[in-house]
Amino acid sequence: PREDRDKIVAPGKKIVRGETAPVRMEHEISGIDSASTTNLIIGTMHDSDGNPTGFVAIAQDFTERKRAEEALKESEEKYRDLVESISDVIYSVDASGVMTYISPVIKSLLGYTPSKLIGSSFADFMYPEDLKSATERFMNTLSGNTETGEFRVVTKSGEVRWVRSSNHPVFEEDRVIGVAGIMTDITERKLAEEALKESEAKYRDLVENISNMIYTIDENGTVTYISPAAESILGYTPSEFLGRSFADIIYKEDLQTATEGFMDLVSGNSTQGEFRLLTKSGEVRWVSTSNRPIFDGARVAGATGMATDITERKKAEEERERLLHELERSNAELQQFAHVASHDLQEPLRMVASYTQLLEKRYKGSLDADADEFIGYAVDGARRMQNLILGLLSYSRVGTRGKPFEPTECESVFKQALDNLKVTINESGAGVTHDPLPRVMADETQLIQLFQNLLANAIKFRGEEQPRIHVSAKEDSNECLFSVSDNGIGINPEYFDRIFVIFQRLHGREEYPGTGIGLSVCKRIVERHGGRIWVESQPGEGSTFHFAIPKGGE
Ligand code: ADP
Repeated sequence: PREDRDKIVAPGKKIVRGETAPVRMEHEISGIDSASTTNLIIGTMHDSDGNPTGFVAIAQDFTERKRAEEALKESEEKYRDLVESISDVIYSVDASGVMTYISPVIKSLLGYTPSKLIGSSFADFMYPEDLKSATERFMNTLSGNTETGEFRVVTKSGEVRWVRSSNHPVFEEDRVIGVAGIMTDITERKLAEEALKESEAKYRDLVENISNMIYTIDENGTVTYISPAAESILGYTPSEFLGRSFADIIYKEDLQTATEGFMDLVSGNSTQGEFRLLTKSGEVRWVSTSNRPIFDGARVAGATGMATDITERKKAEEERERLLHELERSNAELQQFAHVASHDLQEPLRMVASYTQLLEKRYKGSLDADADEFIGYAVDGARRMQNLILGLLSYSRVGTRGKPFEPTECESVFKQALDNLKVTINESGAGVTHDPLPRVMADETQLIQLFQNLLANAIKFRGEEQPRIHVSAKEDSNECLFSVSDNGIGINPEYFDRIFVIFQRLHGREEYPGTGIGLSVCKRIVERHGGRIWVESQPGEGSTFHFAIPKGGE
Protein backbone atom coordinates (compact mmCIF):
# COMPACT_ATOMS: atom_id res chain seq x y z
CA PRO A 1 0.00 0.00 0.00
CA ARG A 2 1.23 3.48 -0.90
CA GLU A 3 1.14 4.81 2.66
CA ASP A 4 3.37 1.99 3.83
CA ARG A 5 5.95 2.42 1.17
CA ASP A 6 7.94 5.08 3.13
CA LYS A 7 8.07 2.81 6.14
CA ILE A 8 10.16 0.47 4.04
CA VAL A 9 12.00 2.81 1.69
CA ALA A 10 13.21 5.34 4.29
CA PRO A 11 14.99 2.83 6.49
CA GLY A 12 16.25 1.13 3.35
CA LYS A 13 17.99 4.28 2.20
CA LYS A 14 19.58 4.78 5.64
CA ILE A 15 20.97 1.32 5.54
CA VAL A 16 22.40 1.82 2.06
CA ARG A 17 24.10 4.98 3.17
CA GLY A 18 25.63 3.03 6.00
CA GLU A 19 23.82 5.01 8.58
CA THR A 20 22.17 2.03 10.30
CA ALA A 21 22.70 -1.67 10.52
CA PRO A 22 20.13 -4.04 9.05
CA VAL A 23 16.91 -4.08 11.07
CA ARG A 24 14.25 -6.58 11.70
CA MET A 25 10.97 -4.93 11.99
CA GLU A 26 7.45 -6.04 12.57
CA HIS A 27 5.07 -4.19 10.53
CA GLU A 28 1.43 -4.09 10.03
CA ILE A 29 0.47 -3.71 6.47
CA SER A 30 -3.11 -3.23 5.54
CA GLY A 31 -3.87 -5.88 3.01
CA ILE A 32 -6.39 -5.58 0.32
CA ASP A 33 -9.24 -6.97 2.36
CA SER A 34 -7.97 -7.25 5.94
CA ALA A 35 -5.11 -6.18 8.12
CA SER A 36 -2.24 -8.53 8.01
CA THR A 37 0.98 -8.57 9.95
CA THR A 38 4.22 -8.70 8.11
CA ASN A 39 7.66 -9.26 9.52
CA LEU A 40 10.11 -7.29 7.46
CA ILE A 41 13.85 -7.96 7.42
CA ILE A 42 15.86 -5.41 5.60
CA GLY A 43 19.51 -6.04 4.71
CA THR A 44 22.28 -4.18 2.79
CA MET A 45 23.80 -5.59 -0.40
CA HIS A 46 27.49 -4.93 -1.04
CA ASP A 47 29.84 -5.21 -3.98
CA SER A 48 33.09 -7.10 -3.77
CA ASP A 49 34.81 -4.03 -2.29
CA GLY A 50 32.24 -3.85 0.40
CA ASN A 51 30.47 -0.79 -0.88
CA PRO A 52 26.75 -0.79 -0.46
CA THR A 53 24.90 -1.32 -3.64
CA GLY A 54 21.36 -1.56 -2.50
CA PHE A 55 19.15 -3.33 0.00
CA VAL A 56 17.11 -6.32 0.10
CA ALA A 57 13.92 -6.65 2.08
CA ILE A 58 12.29 -9.92 3.06
CA ALA A 59 8.72 -9.59 4.06
CA GLN A 60 7.20 -12.43 5.93
CA ASP A 61 3.48 -12.51 6.49
CA PHE A 62 2.74 -13.87 10.03
CA THR A 63 -0.84 -12.76 10.35
CA GLU A 64 -1.92 -16.28 11.27
CA ARG A 65 0.60 -16.66 14.06
CA LYS A 66 -0.38 -13.31 15.51
CA ARG A 67 -4.01 -14.25 15.45
CA ALA A 68 -3.30 -17.53 17.19
CA GLU A 69 -1.35 -15.74 19.87
CA GLU A 70 -4.16 -13.33 20.45
CA ALA A 71 -6.72 -16.11 20.63
CA LEU A 72 -4.55 -17.91 23.15
CA LYS A 73 -4.26 -14.79 25.27
CA GLU A 74 -7.95 -14.25 25.07
CA SER A 75 -8.68 -17.80 26.03
CA GLU A 76 -6.18 -17.66 28.84
CA GLU A 77 -7.89 -14.53 30.17
CA LYS A 78 -11.23 -16.18 29.88
CA TYR A 79 -10.08 -19.15 31.94
CA ARG A 80 -8.35 -16.95 34.46
CA ASP A 81 -11.52 -14.92 34.79
CA LEU A 82 -13.45 -18.09 35.26
CA VAL A 83 -11.03 -19.55 37.75
CA GLU A 84 -10.86 -16.35 39.71
CA SER A 85 -14.54 -15.64 39.80
CA ILE A 86 -15.83 -18.96 41.11
CA SER A 87 -16.21 -19.42 44.85
CA ASP A 88 -14.22 -22.66 44.95
CA VAL A 89 -10.47 -22.41 45.30
CA ILE A 90 -8.46 -23.57 42.27
CA TYR A 91 -4.81 -24.33 42.68
CA SER A 92 -1.88 -26.00 41.15
CA VAL A 93 1.04 -27.58 42.92
CA ASP A 94 4.29 -28.81 41.44
CA ALA A 95 5.65 -32.28 41.98
CA SER A 96 7.58 -31.18 45.04
CA GLY A 97 4.41 -29.94 46.71
CA VAL A 98 5.06 -26.24 46.20
CA MET A 99 2.03 -24.16 45.25
CA THR A 100 2.39 -22.59 41.83
CA TYR A 101 -1.03 -21.04 41.51
CA ILE A 102 -3.99 -20.45 43.80
CA SER A 103 -7.11 -18.46 43.03
CA PRO A 104 -7.76 -15.25 44.99
CA VAL A 105 -10.83 -16.63 46.73
CA ILE A 106 -8.36 -18.45 49.03
CA LYS A 107 -8.23 -15.19 50.97
CA SER A 108 -11.75 -15.67 52.27
CA LEU A 109 -10.98 -19.25 53.24
CA LEU A 110 -7.49 -19.04 54.74
CA GLY A 111 -7.07 -15.31 55.25
CA TYR A 112 -3.89 -15.23 53.11
CA THR A 113 -3.58 -13.69 49.64
CA PRO A 114 -2.38 -15.87 46.75
CA SER A 115 0.94 -14.04 46.61
CA LYS A 116 1.63 -15.09 50.22
CA LEU A 117 0.85 -18.68 49.44
CA ILE A 118 2.44 -19.24 46.07
CA GLY A 119 5.82 -20.80 46.65
CA SER A 120 4.81 -22.36 49.98
CA SER A 121 3.42 -25.82 50.71
CA PHE A 122 -0.10 -26.81 51.62
CA ALA A 123 1.28 -28.80 54.52
CA ASP A 124 1.95 -25.46 56.23
CA PHE A 125 -1.80 -24.83 56.63
CA MET A 126 -3.02 -28.32 57.21
CA TYR A 127 -4.54 -29.38 60.57
CA PRO A 128 -1.79 -31.65 61.97
CA GLU A 129 -4.03 -34.69 62.43
CA ASP A 130 -5.13 -34.62 58.80
CA LEU A 131 -1.66 -34.18 57.31
CA LYS A 132 -0.90 -37.84 56.92
CA SER A 133 -3.96 -38.79 54.91
CA ALA A 134 -3.69 -35.63 52.77
CA THR A 135 -0.07 -36.40 51.98
CA GLU A 136 -1.00 -39.93 50.98
CA ARG A 137 -3.63 -38.57 48.63
CA PHE A 138 -1.13 -36.12 47.12
CA MET A 139 1.38 -38.90 46.50
CA ASN A 140 -1.34 -40.96 44.93
CA THR A 141 -2.18 -38.09 42.58
CA LEU A 142 1.46 -37.86 41.62
CA SER A 143 1.28 -41.46 40.55
CA GLY A 144 -1.48 -40.57 38.15
CA ASN A 145 -4.78 -40.93 40.04
CA THR A 146 -7.50 -38.45 40.78
CA GLU A 147 -8.04 -38.21 44.51
CA THR A 148 -10.77 -36.61 46.57
CA GLY A 149 -10.70 -36.05 50.30
CA GLU A 150 -11.82 -33.97 53.23
CA PHE A 151 -9.47 -32.36 55.70
CA ARG A 152 -9.13 -29.45 58.06
CA VAL A 153 -7.04 -26.33 57.52
CA VAL A 154 -5.93 -23.72 60.02
CA THR A 155 -6.64 -20.16 58.90
CA LYS A 156 -4.45 -17.13 59.45
CA SER A 157 -6.50 -16.25 62.55
CA GLY A 158 -6.08 -19.78 63.93
CA GLU A 159 -9.61 -20.96 63.16
CA VAL A 160 -10.06 -24.56 61.99
CA ARG A 161 -12.13 -25.02 58.83
CA TRP A 162 -13.16 -28.10 56.89
CA VAL A 163 -12.45 -28.34 53.15
CA ARG A 164 -13.05 -30.89 50.50
CA SER A 165 -10.47 -31.06 47.74
CA SER A 166 -10.07 -33.03 44.59
CA ASN A 167 -6.63 -33.40 43.07
CA HIS A 168 -5.96 -34.20 39.43
CA PRO A 169 -2.59 -35.17 38.04
CA VAL A 170 -1.10 -32.78 35.45
CA PHE A 171 0.73 -34.67 32.71
CA GLU A 172 3.51 -33.63 30.43
CA GLU A 173 3.67 -36.40 27.94
CA ASP A 174 3.61 -39.49 30.16
CA ARG A 175 5.08 -37.85 33.19
CA VAL A 176 3.12 -36.24 36.04
CA ILE A 177 4.64 -32.85 36.64
CA GLY A 178 2.25 -31.57 39.23
CA VAL A 179 -1.24 -31.49 40.58
CA ALA A 180 -4.19 -29.27 39.79
CA GLY A 181 -7.04 -29.14 42.18
CA ILE A 182 -10.19 -27.58 43.37
CA MET A 183 -11.04 -27.01 47.01
CA THR A 184 -14.42 -26.22 48.59
CA ASP A 185 -15.16 -24.87 52.05
CA ILE A 186 -17.45 -27.43 53.69
CA THR A 187 -17.22 -26.20 57.27
CA GLU A 188 -20.94 -25.43 57.57
CA ARG A 189 -21.91 -28.78 56.11
CA LYS A 190 -19.46 -30.59 58.36
CA LEU A 191 -20.71 -28.83 61.47
CA ALA A 192 -24.29 -29.61 60.52
CA GLU A 193 -23.31 -33.20 59.81
CA GLU A 194 -21.53 -33.49 63.11
CA ALA A 195 -24.48 -32.01 64.98
CA LEU A 196 -26.76 -34.44 63.19
CA LYS A 197 -24.46 -37.34 63.92
CA GLU A 198 -24.30 -36.36 67.56
CA SER A 199 -28.04 -36.06 67.86
CA GLU A 200 -28.52 -39.29 65.96
CA ALA A 201 -26.05 -41.01 68.28
CA LYS A 202 -27.89 -39.63 71.27
CA TYR A 203 -31.23 -40.99 70.11
CA ARG A 204 -29.73 -44.27 69.00
CA ASP A 205 -28.14 -44.58 72.41
CA LEU A 206 -31.49 -43.96 74.02
CA VAL A 207 -33.38 -46.37 71.81
CA GLU A 208 -30.73 -49.07 72.09
CA ASN A 209 -30.23 -48.90 75.81
CA ILE A 210 -33.71 -48.89 77.24
CA SER A 211 -35.13 -52.22 78.24
CA ASN A 212 -38.25 -51.64 76.15
CA MET A 213 -38.13 -53.01 72.64
CA ILE A 214 -38.47 -50.33 69.96
CA TYR A 215 -39.21 -51.26 66.37
CA THR A 216 -40.41 -50.08 63.01
CA ILE A 217 -42.44 -52.17 60.62
CA ASP A 218 -43.50 -51.61 57.05
CA GLU A 219 -47.08 -51.71 55.79
CA ASN A 220 -46.93 -55.51 55.52
CA GLY A 221 -45.84 -55.87 59.11
CA THR A 222 -42.27 -56.76 58.20
CA VAL A 223 -39.81 -55.59 60.84
CA THR A 224 -37.45 -52.95 59.40
CA TYR A 225 -35.75 -51.98 62.63
CA ILE A 226 -35.68 -53.51 66.09
CA SER A 227 -33.66 -52.39 69.10
CA PRO A 228 -31.23 -54.69 70.94
CA ALA A 229 -33.76 -55.21 73.75
CA ALA A 230 -35.31 -57.73 71.32
CA GLU A 231 -32.71 -60.21 72.44
CA SER A 232 -33.71 -60.14 76.10
CA ILE A 233 -37.45 -60.13 75.32
CA LEU A 234 -37.71 -62.37 72.26
CA GLY A 235 -34.44 -64.28 72.41
CA TYR A 236 -33.75 -63.19 68.82
CA THR A 237 -30.93 -60.73 68.07
CA PRO A 238 -32.02 -57.72 66.02
CA SER A 239 -30.31 -59.10 62.92
CA GLU A 240 -32.10 -62.44 63.33
CA PHE A 241 -35.44 -60.75 63.60
CA LEU A 242 -35.06 -58.12 60.89
CA GLY A 243 -37.23 -58.90 57.89
CA ARG A 244 -39.53 -61.13 59.91
CA SER A 245 -43.00 -60.34 61.21
CA PHE A 246 -44.41 -60.34 64.73
CA ALA A 247 -47.32 -62.37 63.39
CA ASP A 248 -44.89 -65.34 63.13
CA ILE A 249 -44.31 -65.43 66.86
CA ILE A 250 -47.64 -64.32 68.32
CA TYR A 251 -49.21 -66.89 70.60
CA LYS A 252 -51.97 -68.44 68.56
CA GLU A 253 -54.79 -67.60 70.98
CA ASP A 254 -53.84 -63.93 70.75
CA LEU A 255 -53.37 -63.87 66.98
CA GLN A 256 -56.85 -62.63 66.25
CA THR A 257 -56.69 -59.60 68.57
CA ALA A 258 -53.16 -58.82 67.40
CA THR A 259 -54.25 -58.97 63.77
CA GLU A 260 -57.22 -56.70 64.45
CA GLY A 261 -54.80 -54.27 66.09
CA PHE A 262 -52.54 -54.37 63.05
CA MET A 263 -55.47 -53.70 60.69
CA ASP A 264 -56.43 -50.73 62.83
CA LEU A 265 -52.84 -49.49 62.69
CA VAL A 266 -52.52 -49.71 58.92
CA SER A 267 -55.78 -47.86 58.56
CA GLY A 268 -54.06 -44.94 60.29
CA ASN A 269 -54.83 -45.24 64.02
CA SER A 270 -52.51 -45.46 66.99
CA THR A 271 -52.98 -48.72 68.83
CA GLN A 272 -52.23 -50.35 72.14
CA GLY A 273 -52.46 -53.94 73.14
CA GLU A 274 -51.31 -56.77 75.32
CA PHE A 275 -50.55 -60.19 73.99
CA ARG A 276 -48.32 -63.18 74.29
CA LEU A 277 -45.30 -63.98 72.14
CA LEU A 278 -43.30 -67.14 71.73
CA THR A 279 -39.60 -66.51 72.28
CA LYS A 280 -36.86 -68.19 70.29
CA SER A 281 -36.59 -70.88 72.98
CA GLY A 282 -40.37 -71.45 72.90
CA GLU A 283 -41.14 -69.66 76.12
CA VAL A 284 -44.38 -67.65 76.31
CA ARG A 285 -43.91 -63.99 77.26
CA TRP A 286 -46.47 -61.22 77.71
CA VAL A 287 -45.81 -57.87 76.07
CA SER A 288 -47.67 -54.61 76.16
CA THR A 289 -47.29 -52.65 72.94
CA SER A 290 -48.07 -49.18 71.76
CA ASN A 291 -47.85 -48.36 68.04
CA ARG A 292 -48.14 -45.30 65.84
CA PRO A 293 -48.62 -45.29 62.07
CA ILE A 294 -46.01 -43.66 59.82
CA PHE A 295 -47.59 -41.73 56.97
CA ASP A 296 -46.26 -41.16 53.49
CA GLY A 297 -48.66 -38.46 52.42
CA ALA A 298 -52.07 -39.91 53.15
CA ARG A 299 -50.86 -43.49 52.81
CA VAL A 300 -49.75 -45.53 55.84
CA ALA A 301 -46.22 -46.61 54.99
CA GLY A 302 -45.57 -48.51 58.21
CA ALA A 303 -45.46 -47.95 61.93
CA THR A 304 -43.19 -47.40 64.88
CA GLY A 305 -43.83 -49.10 68.15
CA MET A 306 -42.61 -50.01 71.55
CA ALA A 307 -43.10 -53.24 73.43
CA THR A 308 -42.63 -53.74 77.16
CA ASP A 309 -42.17 -57.13 78.71
CA ILE A 310 -45.02 -57.47 81.22
CA THR A 311 -44.62 -61.19 81.83
CA GLU A 312 -43.74 -60.69 85.49
CA ARG A 313 -46.67 -58.35 86.01
CA LYS A 314 -49.02 -60.76 84.27
CA LYS A 315 -47.70 -63.65 86.35
CA ALA A 316 -48.20 -61.60 89.50
CA GLU A 317 -51.71 -60.73 88.37
CA GLU A 318 -52.51 -64.35 87.68
CA GLU A 319 -51.04 -65.35 91.01
CA ARG A 320 -53.06 -62.67 92.77
CA GLU A 321 -56.19 -63.82 91.01
CA ARG A 322 -55.48 -67.38 92.04
CA LEU A 323 -54.81 -66.41 95.64
CA LEU A 324 -57.93 -64.29 95.76
CA HIS A 325 -59.96 -67.16 94.48
CA GLU A 326 -58.34 -69.49 96.95
CA LEU A 327 -58.94 -67.01 99.76
CA GLU A 328 -62.58 -66.65 98.83
CA ARG A 329 -62.99 -70.38 98.79
CA SER A 330 -61.24 -70.94 102.11
CA ASN A 331 -63.15 -68.03 103.65
CA ALA A 332 -66.40 -69.50 102.56
CA GLU A 333 -65.36 -72.87 103.94
CA LEU A 334 -64.30 -71.35 107.21
CA GLN A 335 -67.52 -69.45 107.48
CA GLN A 336 -69.45 -72.58 106.83
CA PHE A 337 -67.38 -74.44 109.38
CA ALA A 338 -67.77 -71.76 112.07
CA HIS A 339 -71.47 -71.64 111.47
CA VAL A 340 -72.00 -75.37 111.50
CA ALA A 341 -69.71 -75.87 114.46
CA SER A 342 -71.28 -73.17 116.58
CA HIS A 343 -74.75 -74.14 115.59
CA ASP A 344 -74.30 -77.87 116.12
CA LEU A 345 -72.34 -77.41 119.34
CA GLN A 346 -75.20 -75.49 120.85
CA GLU A 347 -77.45 -78.49 121.20
CA PRO A 348 -75.17 -80.83 123.27
CA LEU A 349 -73.92 -77.80 125.18
CA ARG A 350 -77.42 -76.84 126.11
CA MET A 351 -77.81 -80.35 127.51
CA VAL A 352 -74.59 -80.10 129.56
CA ALA A 353 -75.58 -76.68 130.83
CA SER A 354 -79.10 -77.58 131.83
CA TYR A 355 -78.10 -80.83 133.58
CA THR A 356 -75.25 -79.22 135.50
CA GLN A 357 -77.65 -76.50 136.53
CA LEU A 358 -80.15 -79.17 137.60
CA LEU A 359 -77.40 -80.88 139.57
CA GLU A 360 -76.59 -77.63 141.25
CA LYS A 361 -80.21 -76.92 142.07
CA ARG A 362 -80.94 -80.39 143.46
CA TYR A 363 -77.75 -81.34 145.24
CA LYS A 364 -76.19 -78.09 146.36
CA GLY A 365 -75.55 -78.47 150.07
CA SER A 366 -76.36 -82.20 150.23
CA LEU A 367 -72.95 -83.36 149.09
CA ASP A 368 -69.67 -82.15 150.54
CA ALA A 369 -68.14 -78.68 150.02
CA ASP A 370 -65.77 -79.95 147.30
CA ALA A 371 -68.68 -81.29 145.30
CA ASP A 372 -70.47 -77.95 145.52
CA GLU A 373 -67.35 -76.20 144.26
CA PHE A 374 -66.88 -78.65 141.37
CA ILE A 375 -70.49 -78.35 140.33
CA GLY A 376 -70.11 -74.56 140.46
CA TYR A 377 -67.11 -74.74 138.07
CA ALA A 378 -69.00 -76.99 135.69
CA VAL A 379 -72.00 -74.67 135.61
CA ASP A 380 -69.80 -71.62 135.02
CA GLY A 381 -67.78 -73.38 132.32
CA ALA A 382 -70.89 -74.44 130.47
CA ARG A 383 -72.32 -70.90 130.63
CA ARG A 384 -69.07 -69.41 129.36
CA MET A 385 -68.92 -71.87 126.57
CA GLN A 386 -72.49 -71.00 125.62
CA ASN A 387 -71.57 -67.34 125.50
CA LEU A 388 -68.52 -68.07 123.37
CA ILE A 389 -70.55 -70.10 120.96
CA LEU A 390 -73.25 -67.44 120.72
CA GLY A 391 -70.56 -64.87 120.03
CA LEU A 392 -68.99 -67.07 117.39
CA LEU A 393 -72.37 -67.60 115.82
CA SER A 394 -73.06 -63.88 115.66
CA TYR A 395 -69.58 -63.34 114.21
CA SER A 396 -70.17 -65.87 111.44
CA ARG A 397 -73.68 -64.52 110.83
CA VAL A 398 -72.33 -61.11 109.86
CA GLY A 399 -71.26 -62.78 106.62
CA THR A 400 -73.99 -65.36 106.19
CA ARG A 401 -77.08 -63.57 107.43
CA GLY A 402 -76.33 -60.09 106.09
CA LYS A 403 -79.29 -58.30 104.50
CA PRO A 404 -79.11 -55.97 101.48
CA PHE A 405 -78.34 -52.33 102.29
CA GLU A 406 -81.23 -49.97 102.54
CA PRO A 407 -81.59 -46.32 103.52
CA THR A 408 -81.37 -46.53 107.29
CA GLU A 409 -82.13 -43.82 109.84
CA CYS A 410 -79.32 -43.86 112.36
CA GLU A 411 -81.49 -42.04 114.91
CA SER A 412 -83.81 -45.02 115.08
CA VAL A 413 -80.90 -47.47 115.02
CA PHE A 414 -79.39 -45.69 117.98
CA LYS A 415 -82.70 -45.76 119.87
CA GLN A 416 -83.09 -49.49 119.39
CA ALA A 417 -79.55 -50.09 120.59
CA LEU A 418 -80.26 -48.03 123.71
CA ASP A 419 -83.47 -49.97 124.20
CA ASN A 420 -81.63 -53.28 124.08
CA LEU A 421 -79.19 -51.98 126.70
CA LYS A 422 -81.85 -50.44 128.95
CA VAL A 423 -81.09 -52.64 131.95
CA THR A 424 -77.33 -52.15 131.80
CA ILE A 425 -77.72 -48.40 131.36
CA ASN A 426 -80.04 -48.11 134.29
CA GLU A 427 -77.86 -50.29 136.53
CA SER A 428 -74.70 -48.35 135.73
CA GLY A 429 -76.37 -44.93 135.78
CA ALA A 430 -74.69 -44.17 132.45
CA GLY A 431 -75.51 -40.87 130.71
CA VAL A 432 -75.69 -41.30 126.94
CA THR A 433 -75.98 -38.26 124.69
CA HIS A 434 -75.85 -37.92 120.93
CA ASP A 435 -75.68 -35.50 118.00
CA PRO A 436 -78.29 -35.62 115.25
CA LEU A 437 -77.51 -38.79 113.34
CA PRO A 438 -77.72 -39.09 109.54
CA ARG A 439 -79.34 -41.57 107.25
CA VAL A 440 -77.04 -44.14 105.60
CA MET A 441 -77.25 -47.09 103.26
CA ALA A 442 -76.87 -50.05 105.59
CA ASP A 443 -78.10 -53.31 106.97
CA GLU A 444 -80.18 -52.00 109.85
CA THR A 445 -79.93 -55.05 112.12
CA GLN A 446 -76.16 -55.04 111.83
CA LEU A 447 -75.95 -51.33 112.45
CA ILE A 448 -77.98 -51.81 115.66
CA GLN A 449 -75.60 -54.52 116.75
CA LEU A 450 -72.59 -52.29 115.96
CA PHE A 451 -73.87 -49.42 118.09
CA GLN A 452 -74.97 -51.81 120.80
CA ASN A 453 -71.52 -53.46 121.07
CA LEU A 454 -69.71 -50.13 121.22
CA LEU A 455 -72.11 -48.68 123.79
CA ALA A 456 -71.98 -51.85 125.90
CA ASN A 457 -68.16 -51.73 125.95
CA ALA A 458 -68.22 -48.03 126.86
CA ILE A 459 -70.35 -48.91 129.88
CA LYS A 460 -68.50 -52.12 130.74
CA PHE A 461 -65.03 -50.59 130.71
CA ARG A 462 -66.00 -47.67 132.89
CA GLY A 463 -63.70 -46.25 135.55
CA GLU A 464 -64.51 -44.88 138.96
CA GLU A 465 -66.82 -42.20 137.60
CA GLN A 466 -70.31 -42.66 136.33
CA PRO A 467 -70.13 -43.51 132.65
CA ARG A 468 -70.71 -40.60 130.24
CA ILE A 469 -71.01 -41.55 126.63
CA HIS A 470 -71.44 -39.32 123.61
CA VAL A 471 -72.21 -40.38 120.04
CA SER A 472 -71.42 -37.90 117.28
CA ALA A 473 -71.61 -37.96 113.51
CA LYS A 474 -69.97 -36.02 110.70
CA GLU A 475 -70.57 -36.22 106.98
CA ASP A 476 -68.58 -35.38 103.92
CA SER A 477 -69.35 -36.07 100.29
CA ASN A 478 -67.99 -39.64 100.49
CA GLU A 479 -68.74 -41.01 103.90
CA CYS A 480 -70.38 -40.66 107.30
CA LEU A 481 -68.04 -40.69 110.26
CA PHE A 482 -69.45 -41.82 113.63
CA SER A 483 -67.66 -41.54 116.95
CA VAL A 484 -68.52 -43.14 120.29
CA SER A 485 -66.61 -41.53 123.18
CA ASP A 486 -66.54 -42.60 126.78
CA ASN A 487 -64.84 -41.56 130.01
CA GLY A 488 -63.78 -45.11 130.86
CA ILE A 489 -60.48 -46.80 131.63
CA GLY A 490 -58.94 -46.11 128.22
CA ILE A 491 -56.64 -48.35 126.19
CA ASN A 492 -52.89 -48.41 125.80
CA PRO A 493 -52.16 -47.47 122.15
CA GLU A 494 -49.95 -50.52 121.75
CA TYR A 495 -53.13 -52.70 121.84
CA PHE A 496 -55.14 -50.68 119.33
CA ASP A 497 -54.89 -53.33 116.62
CA ARG A 498 -55.14 -56.32 118.89
CA ILE A 499 -58.54 -55.50 120.40
CA PHE A 500 -60.27 -55.89 117.02
CA VAL A 501 -59.02 -59.46 116.67
CA ILE A 502 -61.47 -62.19 117.67
CA PHE A 503 -61.03 -63.58 121.22
CA GLN A 504 -58.43 -60.92 122.08
CA ARG A 505 -59.04 -59.26 125.45
CA LEU A 506 -56.92 -57.06 127.64
CA HIS A 507 -58.43 -58.12 130.95
CA GLY A 508 -59.18 -61.18 132.98
CA ARG A 509 -62.76 -62.45 133.26
CA GLU A 510 -62.80 -61.63 136.95
CA GLU A 511 -62.11 -57.98 136.20
CA TYR A 512 -64.44 -57.50 133.23
CA PRO A 513 -66.65 -60.29 131.89
CA GLY A 514 -66.67 -60.94 128.16
CA THR A 515 -65.59 -63.20 125.33
CA GLY A 516 -63.39 -60.95 123.19
CA ILE A 517 -65.78 -61.17 120.27
CA GLY A 518 -67.66 -57.82 120.41
CA LEU A 519 -65.15 -55.60 118.60
CA SER A 520 -64.31 -58.23 115.99
CA VAL A 521 -68.02 -58.38 115.16
CA CYS A 522 -68.04 -54.55 114.91
CA LYS A 523 -65.07 -54.69 112.54
CA ARG A 524 -66.74 -57.30 110.35
CA ILE A 525 -69.94 -55.28 110.17
CA VAL A 526 -68.13 -52.06 109.26
CA GLU A 527 -66.02 -53.83 106.65
CA ARG A 528 -69.06 -55.49 105.15
CA HIS A 529 -70.34 -51.92 104.62
CA GLY A 530 -67.09 -50.96 102.89
CA GLY A 531 -65.92 -48.85 105.82
CA ARG A 532 -63.22 -48.85 108.49
CA ILE A 533 -63.07 -48.74 112.28
CA TRP A 534 -60.36 -47.54 114.64
CA VAL A 535 -59.83 -46.26 118.13
CA GLU A 536 -58.23 -43.25 119.82
CA SER A 537 -57.45 -43.52 123.49
CA GLN A 538 -55.02 -43.12 126.36
CA PRO A 539 -55.14 -45.24 129.54
CA GLY A 540 -57.23 -43.46 132.14
CA GLU A 541 -58.53 -40.87 129.71
CA GLY A 542 -61.45 -42.57 128.08
CA SER A 543 -61.70 -43.99 124.56
CA THR A 544 -63.23 -42.89 121.29
CA PHE A 545 -64.19 -45.52 118.75
CA HIS A 546 -64.59 -44.12 115.23
CA PHE A 547 -66.13 -45.81 112.26
CA ALA A 548 -66.71 -44.47 108.78
CA ILE A 549 -69.29 -45.82 106.36
CA PRO A 550 -69.27 -44.84 102.69
CA LYS A 551 -72.42 -43.18 101.41
CA GLY A 552 -72.75 -46.01 98.94
CA GLY A 553 -75.94 -46.36 96.91
CA GLU A 554 -76.89 -42.70 97.11
P1 ADP B 1 -65.02 -58.05 125.23
O1 ADP B 1 -65.74 -56.78 125.44
O2 ADP B 1 -65.86 -59.26 125.22
O3 ADP B 1 -63.78 -58.19 126.02
P2 ADP B 1 -64.41 -56.86 122.74
O4 ADP B 1 -63.94 -57.45 121.44
O5 ADP B 1 -65.65 -56.08 122.70
O6 ADP B 1 -64.46 -58.03 123.74
O7 ADP B 1 -63.25 -55.92 123.27
C1 ADP B 1 -61.92 -56.38 123.25
C2 ADP B 1 -61.12 -55.61 124.31
O8 ADP B 1 -61.00 -54.24 123.95
C3 ADP B 1 -61.76 -55.57 125.65
O9 ADP B 1 -61.46 -56.74 126.36
C4 ADP B 1 -61.18 -54.34 126.26
O10 ADP B 1 -59.93 -54.63 126.81
C5 ADP B 1 -60.98 -53.43 125.11
N1 ADP B 1 -62.07 -52.44 124.99
C6 ADP B 1 -63.14 -52.48 124.18
N2 ADP B 1 -63.90 -51.38 124.31
C7 ADP B 1 -63.31 -50.61 125.25
C8 ADP B 1 -63.61 -49.34 125.85
N3 ADP B 1 -64.70 -48.64 125.51
N4 ADP B 1 -62.77 -48.87 126.79
C9 ADP B 1 -61.67 -49.57 127.14
N5 ADP B 1 -61.32 -50.77 126.62
C10 ADP B 1 -62.14 -51.29 125.70
